[in-house]
Amino acid sequence: MSDAEDIQIQLGTVKTRTVVQERAWPCAELSTYVGAYGDADASELPIYVRLAALEGIESHAISSLKAEVGGALLGGVYRHEGKVYVQVESYLPARNADEQRARLTFTHETWKQLYDEREQKHPDLSIVGWYHTHPDLGVFLSDDDKFIQRNFFGEEEQIALVVDPVANERAFFRQSNGKLPKLPGFYVFGDASSSGNIETVLDKMRTKPQAAPRHTPPARNNPTINRIIFAEPCLNLYYFLPRMMRRWLGILNAETAPRISIKNVLIVALLVALVYMFVTTRPAPPQELIHIEYAKAFSAAGDYEESVREYRRYLVHKPDDEAAREGLLAALKKLSAENNDVSAVYENEIAAAREAANRAARNGNFGSAYRLYRIVAAHTQEGDDRACESVFGFLAGSIASRPSKADADVVLRFFVGQDIGARIEETDKKNHKRAPKSQGARYWPPW
Ligand SMILES: [Zn+2]
Repeated sequence: MSDAEDIQIQLGTVKTRTVVQERAWPCAELSTYVGAYGDADASELPIYVRLAALEGIESHAISSLKAEVGGALLGGVYRHEGKVYVQVESYLPARNADEQRARLTFTHETWKQLYDEREQKHPDLSIVGWYHTHPDLGVFLSDDDKFIQRNFFGEEEQIALVVDPVANERAFFRQSNGKLPKLPGFYVFGDASSSGNIETVLDKMRTKPQAAPRHTPPARNNPTINRIIFAEPCLNLYYFLPRMMRRWLGILNAETAPRISIKNVLIVALLVALVYMFVTTRPAPPQELIHIEYAKAFSAAGDYEESVREYRRYLVHKPDDEAAREGLLAALKKLSAENNDVSAVYENEIAAAREAANRAARNGNFGSAYRLYRIVAAHTQEGDDRACESVFGFLAGSIASRPSKADADVVLRFFVGQDIGARIEETDKKNHKRAPKSQGARYWPPW
């Protein structure tokens, strides 16, 4: 039923209470056939519905599966052997004033129409109750329904029939001790000759409708769906991924069967590959590589202070990296030029570079040593000669260890065309007494 404001019904003088008369149950007559719907025998208020009336109500109910429909139940209230029962002989469909609405609206006009029609068509019958449908909502009394029942059909023998034509369910309700219980069943009666019809109708009423899916899934080869899947990756992700996840969860919970298709196999293979990629332990990128990249980036951005920090972090790992030493000293030089108080650090780093050069020379990496000495020389105004001298001294002292061809070439290239023969001899005399004197300057190169 509808909103409360639609139920401003003034029944006024209309008498809805039916006079209870003594009358035998329909089943007492031999010419009458009675069938039961539900547990009719257990009902405290036996209700007998004539087959014709029931068929009319049922076809009215099924006429609209979207909007609610309803009407009045006509008949009488009788007593037999001290027990009150209701007999429904006919019905009057209500003309819904507002058919656009999904919910039934019993307006004042609706009631007036029902009472007028009863007087014209069935003057011998009373309104014993009302009926309405709940398409696909289930059989119950809503708050609005209860309002109507309590206010206009508040007697114990006044009944409300609710039909759900979609679920194929129906039940009567009535007021009893302030409550509105659902009655467990009712009787359907008619001429004995129509017994077959009655059972057919009852069988139809007892069958549960096939559970049809509310939304038909789209055909698998639906061109629109295919276009979305293949052409709209974002839409695909947004709409199909949750559906896919639900399906896969269903497979995991053994609620649905896995659907094996090439597409699914490919998707699973891709996922497995991704998981494998992330799960298998791969060596993390070396920390120092990150520091040198940051150092260069900070230098390029002009933040020499941060650059120095990153270079020093890097050099902890790679103390003999010439390029990093050069970068660090260059950054420190820039900082010095910016009047930052880094002169002590600068000096220390020059000393560290010189130590790295010595270390390289000691290890026989003369090319590296030479390049490091040149870096130091550039920052100390010692000049390249001094760098040559240092390396050459090491070279002279390490002939026995045979430096690599590449290392020697680096130094050689620098010496070619420079008049430093005297200096070499001098260095040789001063520092590297082990070198055979007889070879003099000509010991170079010995291989
Ligand atoms: Zn209702």
